[in-house]
Amino acid sequence: MSDSLLITNVRPMAGAATSILVTAGRIAAIGGGAAPSGATVIDGANAIALPGLVEAHAHLDKTLWGMGWHRHQAGPRLIDKIENERALKKTLGIDPARQSARQVVLSAAKGSTHIRSHVDVDTEIGLAGIEGVMATRARYKDMIDIEIVAFPQSGLLVRPGTVELMDRALAMGVEVVGGIDPCAIDRDPKGHVDQIFGLAQKHGRPVDIHLHEPGEMGAFSMELIIERTQALGMAGKVTVSHAFCLGTPDRDLVDPLIDALAKWRIAIMTTGPASRSAPPVKRLVERGVVLCAGSDGIRDTWSPYGSADMLERAMFIGLRNNLRRDDDVELALDICCRGGATVMGLRNYGLAVGCDADLALVDAESLTEAAVAHPPRRLVVKRGRVVARGGKPLVAAP
Ligand SMILES: [Zn+2]
Repeated sequence: MSDSLLITNVRPMAGAATSILVTAGRIAAIGGGAAPSGATVIDGANAIALPGLVEAHAHLDKTLWGMGWHRHQAGPRLIDKIENERALKKTLGIDPARQSARQVVLSAAKGSTHIRSHVDVDTEIGLAGIEGVMATRARYKDMIDIEIVAFPQSGLLVRPGTVELMDRALAMGVEVVGGIDPCAIDRDPKGHVDQIFGLAQKHGRPVDIHLHEPGEMGAFSMELIIERTQALGMAGKVTVSHAFCLGTPDRDLVDPLIDALAKWRIAIMTTGPASRSAPPVKRLVERGVVLCAGSDGIRDTWSPYGSADMLERAMFIGLRNNLRRDDDVELALDICCRGGATVMGLRNYGLAVGCDADLALVDAESLTEAAVAHPPRRLVVKRGRVVARGGKPLVAAP
């Protein structure tokens, strides 16, 4: 049997109709290129071909997807939600392996071919979340690539023993060091940043830190992150997730931060949040900052929202940033594919000969229509294998 796939009548990035030939998991030709005998041929029906979407910020270990409707009653503060979640993990029986598998199947059906997932590490759950997501990663390795961030959701220094658990998670093969609100959660900004960058140096790994802190507090934490990135030669290896402080109207506060982020190649992850101040994506891109996007938690104890659809996410980013021109909406879509690939350091990503054959086909006339209508994905291909058709995954979720 041939390992070749020929997708005919398809429009890469909404361009002219052509065919894409895939051999041995890679794009072998775009236009031309006769299909080898025995190749599978699929009619693309004039759909747009996008490179695989990149979900660059998920929490696979704790979605409640498939567990019945959860009634949300947590208090308004961040710490209320953190404590509520730690308690509910026990009473609801949130199994990280089962739940991450459910979200992975959902994501694949929506055209994501790569996920960066933060996974909780704390003194109650220990490394069970990491082990669960690692099991899912192994089980679905032909369907999606998963990168894991060890994430001290409940704080690092405020809960002694967490640093040691993070160290063990990294020794087990977790790829990225996570962190959270050095001032607001840990109340020891220098200590927190020293610890996570220390772990990054020890294990030779990148950093991706959640920074929800608003205004000047967030700006202060971000300055500490920038200083460490510079001092330790980690340009291009640090991501700040959420970075709500960049949405502060005070340009005298924000503009120097944006310039420093660009200079030290510190990436920003945004969800395009409807309810918080948000990084101004167009200004960041224009100043040279790399952006990626993610769903963050979907249907978890934090909120009832989320669909794992990165095309819909592009729409949310467009709405949040008042992007209306097609070229501006295309920028939001670019953040949801190429931006994430840049942040995750994906080699062989893209729609060119030689790239991994990670594709999402969408029935839309233009890229902007693909984002705003985000219809079910006609076809999703991971390294040359069809993993979803007509919005339905070919592998059942547990
Ligand atoms: Zn998050």
